[in-house]
Amino acid sequence: MEKEILGIHHITAIAGDPQKNIDFYSGILGLRMVKLTVNYDDPTTYHLYYGDEIGHPGTIITFFPWPNAPKGRIGTGQVTTTSFSIPKSSLSYWMNRLKSNGIAFEGPISRFDEQALQFSDYDGLHLELVAHDYTDNRKGWKHGPVPLEHAIRGFYHVTLTEEGYQQTASVLTRLGFRLTAEHDNQYRYEIGEVGGPSKIVDVLCQPTAPPGLVSVGTVHHVAWRTPTDEQQLSWRSEIAKMGLNVTPVIDRKYFHSIYFREPGGVLFEVATDPPGFTIDQPASELGTRLMLPPWLEPVRSRLEHELPRVNRPKPVPA
Ligand code: ZN
Repeated sequence: MEKEILGIHHITAIAGDPQKNIDFYSGILGLRMVKLTVNYDDPTTYHLYYGDEIGHPGTIITFFPWPNAPKGRIGTGQVTTTSFSIPKSSLSYWMNRLKSNGIAFEGPISRFDEQALQFSDYDGLHLELVAHDYTDNRKGWKHGPVPLEHAIRGFYHVTLTEEGYQQTASVLTRLGFRLTAEHDNQYRYEIGEVGGPSKIVDVLCQPTAPPGLVSVGTVHHVAWRTPTDEQQLSWRSEIAKMGLNVTPVIDRKYFHSIYFREPGGVLFEVATDPPGFTIDQPASELGTRLMLPPWLEPVRSRLEHELPRVNRPKPVPA
């Protein structure tokens, strides 16, 4: 059966304080909080989703806030940098915006044919805003604090830091990625006919870097897009054939997921595009109330009492 990976679906990371996380991603980066829910595997923890207007795949960054957990360590076997795509003419807007919000940054640094501003969120997660030559017709979030002409369009790429390189490269190739550029110890892979924003992964080979430790301020996993449940099942058998342990399909309500660890240690997920975030809320109300799966509705009042209070976005004009 023909099957394809369409690029990055979402990235999930660990945060500390949930309100500071909302202030950073909604308030400074200008993403829309598209879902306020709980971690289905640990319902006393929030699961916060941000993205564009309706959280299209390729724009979604999600967080588990662990307010009392220690800081993690960014290192090998992890997604070490998460990069967002911005219009080429927006670099100076963003330099001013970061500066006026007290966010220290480096750059713009030049790499391949792009320019990147590098900075960290309040928990130390490494982020970039990348201005580039590709066409990126995705729209930003029009009701956010960033003028639409400068708004983040979604992901540009992710960087995996690896102790070795060959086995990770071979899994990426089996998923459909192809090597399109390399510089020193950095190998760029792209997927799809044209590649480009949200279809790029860089592999950074750093044999002497310390291994990463997942906790506050680190990425937990990256998910790749698959268009249908049928293709996901087909990917599942393909991944098993690579000799990798892959989970059964898990229903995450807004998408369906399978997980496996690539040989370098990074947790990969393959997630379906449908059904998306409007399955349980109209687009105008995304993020405005705590959404729970049916099996947690009976304990809603207890959860609402236990979860830290956070400011929720207001509904927007439909
Ligand atoms: Zn995920």
